Amino acid sequence: MKQSVKLVVGNWKMHGLSGALDQASSLSRALVIDAGAIRVGLCPPATLIDRMRGVLKGGPVELGGQDCHAQPQGAFTGSVSAEMLADAGARLVILGHSERRTAFGETDRDVAEKVEAAVAAGLEPIVCVGESLAQRERGDAVAIVTAQVAASLPDSLTERPFAVAYEPIWAIGTGLTPTLEQIAEMHAAIRSAVVERLGQGAGRAPILYGGSVKPDNARAILSTPEVGGALVGGASLQAEDFLAVIRAA
Ligand code: PEP
Repeated sequence: MKQSVKLVVGNWKMHGLSGALDQASSLSRALVIDAGAIRVGLCPPATLIDRMRGVLKGGPVELGGQDCHAQPQGAFTGSVSAEMLADAGARLVILGHSERRTAFGETDRDVAEKVEAAVAAGLEPIVCVGESLAQRERGDAVAIVTAQVAASLPDSLTERPFAVAYEPIWAIGTGLTPTLEQIAEMHAAIRSAVVERLGQGAGRAPILYGGSVKPDNARAILSTPEVGGALVGGASLQAEDFLAVIRAA
């Protein structure tokens, strides 16, 4: 299915002190987008969301969190709830990033619970899935990723806005990317898995590609069939590079 509005989202991970607000403000000032063709999101550390909202006021950049807790509040020292992200100014939230799945042991079930919480708080979740290099080399990539899709998307997503991000673990921060054919194959498989899981109504959810997207490969990746946008790590940290990726969309 053809996607009309591309979604390009920057994931700053654990990078950014208050000086980074200038970075966001220069991005916003330089950004001229056709809102019918592209949406741009930025997911800074949670500590910056509220102040960034002030800096970006009225601009086209939508803010997001990088994770949330599955509960709305409670005795969960160190955690941030979806409601808190929304209260700080977020509209989006990245969930199930492979760094959370690997370093924090998050399972598909944990991710699905966080997605439920995000939807309840009015956030648009970006649900990450992706295979390891060993899984790809064994020929298991499509089976692993489609199983993650089926288990990470709760029923509550039916008729709600969300995105899936295909992020091969071996491509994140490595400079390596799958071939365009591999991306197209995986995105088509994810599309079928989303529709099978949630019905035709979910068939328009964008499927983003993430993993070493840079200014020099963005155009080719973003014009691959079924690629509805990009989740961008390293290249989103510099406004110039992120702008170049956005322009390629
Ligand atoms: C990411 O971590 O979501 C990511 C895509 O990182 P990078 O672009 O740096 O590979």
